[in-house]
Amino acid sequence: MKYDVIIIGAGPGGIFSAYELVNKNPQLKVAVFEAGHALEKRHCPIDGVKIKSCVKCKSCSIMSGFGGAGAFSDGKYNITNDFGGTLYEYIGKRQALELMQYVDEINMEYGGKGTKLYTTAGSGIKTDCIRHDLHLLNASVRHLGTDINYIVLENIYNLLKDKVSFFFDTAVDTVDILDEGYQINTADGSHSCDKLIISVGRSGSKWMEKVCKELNIPTKSNRVDIGVRVELPASVFAHLTDELYESKIVYRTEKYGDRVRTFCMNPKGAVVTENTNGIITVNGHSYEDPAKQTENTNFALLVAKHFSEPFKDSNGYGESIARLSNMLGGGVIVQRFGDLIRGRRSTPGRIEESFLTPTLQATPGDLSLVLPKRILDGIIEMIYALDKIAPGTANEDTLLYGVEVKFYNMEVEVDEKLESRYKGLYIIGDGSGITHSLSHASASGVHVARNILGE
Ligand SMILES: Cc1cc2nc3c(=O)[nH]c(=O)nc-3n(C[C@H](O)[C@H](O)[C@H](O)COP(=O)(O)OP(=O)(O)OC[C@H]3O[C@@H](n4cnc5c(N)ncnc54)[C@H](O)[C@@H]3O)c2cc1C
Repeated sequence: MKYDVIIIGAGPGGIFSAYELVNKNPQLKVAVFEAGHALEKRHCPIDGVKIKSCVKCKSCSIMSGFGGAGAFSDGKYNITNDFGGTLYEYIGKRQALELMQYVDEINMEYGGKGTKLYTTAGSGIKTDCIRHDLHLLNASVRHLGTDINYIVLENIYNLLKDKVSFFFDTAVDTVDILDEGYQINTADGSHSCDKLIISVGRSGSKWMEKVCKELNIPTKSNRVDIGVRVELPASVFAHLTDELYESKIVYRTEKYGDRVRTFCMNPKGAVVTENTNGIITVNGHSYEDPAKQTENTNFALLVAKHFSEPFKDSNGYGESIARLSNMLGGGVIVQRFGDLIRGRRSTPGRIEESFLTPTLQATPGDLSLVLPKRILDGIIEMIYALDKIAPGTANEDTLLYGVEVKFYNMEVEVDEKLESRYKGLYIIGDGSGITHSLSHASASGVHVARNILGE
């Protein structure tokens, strides 16, 4: 079977490409190949009772399957060029924002109606931040929540399933360049197409690197963000989260001049583990449904590291730090801020006695044995800075989970159409190293689809 378009990866990038293609031209023969499961078969076995930590499934249901890494995410669609990727560098700021707004309209049409759109515009919090040398980035944030996000995905899948051929549990092994078009090879056989869209996200980072090497597509090293996930009583951050839901705040440390930033804020949410290529790191999410909410808020504090010469492997550096925490803690380590400051490890007893109940069962330990001093010093400085706008952040019982690592894919060389040096071969979403978020990845999918449609 020869398809007009094959899409590799059914994350937001791949889904929005498929949506735009068949919605605008129902005659097109489109196939999507996805290494993970169909949406209804995606289940992480961690139930907090029988299975408390990652059992390293062959296909991680948090990262892979219909919906991609976004399926069980908090569903925060940040409509901004200030963070979440550098798509605007390729397609221009106005167009990038328009595409993100278009994605938002589709999400509203397929189940998101009634969810809240938060904005930093005109917020007094910005002034409060700047008075303490903290910098609030501009954004509008659509918060779908994990539950509504799932419903939107379910509705979009139901729309697409009769118009697009989906191949789940089918990882693409290699890509061949034909005289006309492309061939993808899987364990179950090969398929060809005129145009190929690769949208393999972070979980496909190693595969993407391999394909770029084989096809001689230039790449350049990207950064890695390393830090911790902070968990505290929801009331400490309520004045920020009630107004903005998510506040992206950047702080430049006095000691080293490094930038530390808040990332992925989950009011009344839960801390979760994440498995990227067998390495266990920490993340977080929250539900729109009040019945599923917790009494805690969590967010990450991250420091960006970028290596170029002679050591280029920024991701390898992040992986080594995550491996160290996996070695010491068997997975994620949790430490009370008070214990960290006193230079002692947290123990199960100290965690038990604290006033804050962790939402993730992690191994009590000592993050100073894992994180490089410079990164840890930056995080501690930022916690004290945040304490000025949200008193209680630097409390003894504030929990730090480590490590949180944001891996960024190698940035793949593509043009303004997101087309590689091969005509008709597009590389989009987080897999391209250009986007790092739901909204940017989805927007890149629409952009490429419109290009294929000749719009
Ligand atoms: C727990 C969690 C919470 C998050 N919360 C947010 C949030 O609130 N807001 C936000 O903006 N971002 C969030 N993110 C990040 C967001 O999910 C990603 O930026 C987004 O999903 C990227 O979309 P994508 O389509 O580029 O890639 P992905 O969503 O990663 O999808 C890529 C797909 O490709 C498949 N694949 C990989 N290799 C192959 C192969 N060789 N053959 C076939 N298929 C393959 C994978 O299985 C995967 O399903 C979160 C991520 C996680 C893990």
